[in-house]
Amino acid sequence: MYGAGDVRVEDVPDAALQAPTDAVVRVVRACVCGSDLHPFHTLPASADGQTMGHEFIGVVEETGSDVATLKRGDFVIAPFAYSDNTCEFCREGLHTSCRQGGFFSTAQAEAVRVPLADGTLVKAPVGEDSALLPSLLTLSDVFLTGHHAAVMAGVNERTSVTVIGDGAVGLSAVLAAKRLGAERIVLMGRHKDRTDLGREFGATDVVAERGEEGIQLVRELTGGDGTHTVLECVGYLPAYEMAYGVVRPGGVISRVGVPQYEEAPIGFGSLFGGNIRLAGGPAPVRAYLEQLLPDVLEGRIEPGKVFDRTVDLDGVPDGYRAMDAREALKVLVRP
Ligand SMILES: [Zn+2]
Repeated sequence: MYGAGDVRVEDVPDAALQAPTDAVVRVVRACVCGSDLHPFHTLPASADGQTMGHEFIGVVEETGSDVATLKRGDFVIAPFAYSDNTCEFCREGLHTSCRQGGFFSTAQAEAVRVPLADGTLVKAPVGEDSALLPSLLTLSDVFLTGHHAAVMAGVNERTSVTVIGDGAVGLSAVLAAKRLGAERIVLMGRHKDRTDLGREFGATDVVAERGEEGIQLVRELTGGDGTHTVLECVGYLPAYEMAYGVVRPGGVISRVGVPQYEEAPIGFGSLFGGNIRLAGGPAPVRAYLEQLLPDVLEGRIEPGKVFDRTVDLDGVPDGYRAMDAREALKVLVRP
């Protein structure tokens, strides 16, 4: 990406081992993330540009001499952050804060160098032709980001839920909340084709209105109180403002949309007065991956339904355009 709106496909040096703990993974599927659209809107133009992509599944091609658990030919899922899976943060389940970790940024490509391969990659017993590939790819980021939103909010069978945002993360948060037992899930989104998938994933109510009008409608649906938990899956300030508008006193707002703001209300009229807690952050996908993998492998959930368009590498620039124009919900990349 050379600047806002300027995505190009170019030949670069092949991914190669640099450290003995590295692996090189050939990408079988990657995708475009909603968060990739933020630089697509705002990245200053530059001559060098930057590589893009952080979600991928693929096949191990090569391993460094210290890699013990992986071998050539293994099919793997890569979390969007790499981590050693051994430091104190990883042991606490916060792999996105790993002392040695970092975030991928080269996944919209033919192959990726994976640092800390033993700690990072999770094997999956599937072939490259598996029908499960789209759903397995969502374990790299989008579905487990929705799951993280629900976990950080404490969603369970006794909590009502509002999900703000009908993008792929918001719909994933609906599915995750349903999986965790939530019986009342209000989805705030205004694109009917997307909220229809949200209903299929478990939303019990859809509110298309936004702002004060949307807040009032959610309150009316919940006896005036709002919901115990709010999963904010957008990242813009108006979504946060709706979140504290619809959260029930004593409740939790959990944010997983990357905030595009640094300043926001936290005072009496927003968080303090109702004893509202604020949670969320980048999802430690690695902490959840092995736990949720069987749900995908055994067909209990199908989070890959968020993909509604497939492109090859040459089609990636048009994939960004289509997602930005909301022609596509989420674009799958098949190199
Ligand atoms: Zn770590």
